[in-house]
Amino acid sequence: MSKGARNVLFTFDYELFLGSKSGSVIDCLIKPTDRLLELFKKYTLQNAIFFVDTSYLYRLKYIESSACRADLKLIEDQLIHIINNGHYVFPHIHPHWLDAIYIDKVNQWDLSNHSKYRFHNINEKEREVLFAESISILNKLIAKSNRKYDLNSYRAGGWSIQPFSDFKPYFIKYNMKNDFSVVKGFKNLSQAQYMDFINCPLKNIYNFDDEVNVEVSTGQFTEYTISTISRKLTNKLSSLIWEKILWRIGSRSYGDGISMVMTDQDHKNLKEFGSFEKEFLAIELLHAFKLNAYKKFISDNHYTHFISHPKMLSEHNLSTFDRLLRYLTSNFTLQTDFSHISSI
Ligand SMILES: [Zn+2]
Repeated sequence: MSKGARNVLFTFDYELFLGSKSGSVIDCLIKPTDRLLELFKKYTLQNAIFFVDTSYLYRLKYIESSACRADLKLIEDQLIHIINNGHYVFPHIHPHWLDAIYIDKVNQWDLSNHSKYRFHNINEKEREVLFAESISILNKLIAKSNRKYDLNSYRAGGWSIQPFSDFKPYFIKYNMKNDFSVVKGFKNLSQAQYMDFINCPLKNIYNFDDEVNVEVSTGQFTEYTISTISRKLTNKLSSLIWEKILWRIGSRSYGDGISMVMTDQDHKNLKEFGSFEKEFLAIELLHAFKLNAYKKFISDNHYTHFISHPKMLSEHNLSTFDRLLRYLTSNFTLQTDFSHISSI
């Protein structure tokens, strides 16, 4: 009997922490990403997408510091390795890197200033620089790798892709065809994180032109929406108890930085708009007591789009992901290449 087919996209935000302490390159990026690459290799899976925080690489490139040069080299080598393993790297821009302060003593960054968190809040010159640098940095890495592909896909920092009119000129100029920023059903309208995906189309993948949440069948861009799952299915009591136990026994993520703090307004908005009723599917949220809910979600849906962050991963997350991949590869034929999935 032939196995059922499932489209499963594994996407990652390859980035440091975005709060008062960025964390180190080794712990936030290199170590957890190497573990992911091992797992994909073990199950002969390719075409995962790493959305690289190119705004950080841009800052690294122009700072006079031997520690920064060493960090940049580590990252570039790993990104080439990712591409050579059959995966993609694409740009992911967090504009408030423009205001990040480098802390020489600890070789980390302070990103407490969030006034430029949204792309909407930076001027045209800054937008142009960030896009031009992002594309040039990644294209140079693709040129050094043994796999060639078009740099044509984007995910906005903090999913703040609206209004799309801010991005459209740069999408056109830099040949961006696909967007991966829409999280189905999420809404938050704070000063930093601004998104409204409540009324996006029911389809998982659709074309658009002027707004990411309005389908235009002849639109020149394609949206690959990020999947969400009801918290009723994932946050059962057993799940919550297990999370406490994991914390008690010292199960921690690889990353050693400090996240951007959510404001009271963020919490209020997310609650009011119902965004707390669901969660996105992420390896860092996956643990033993959620495994069955994830298996069922993928069995029941032809399309699943994970969004994960290497910096947030713990060994327990990774070993549970290992179990999930074993189940998926033995029960389904997986299509993990977004470029082979055009409409669902
Ligand atoms: Zn990000």
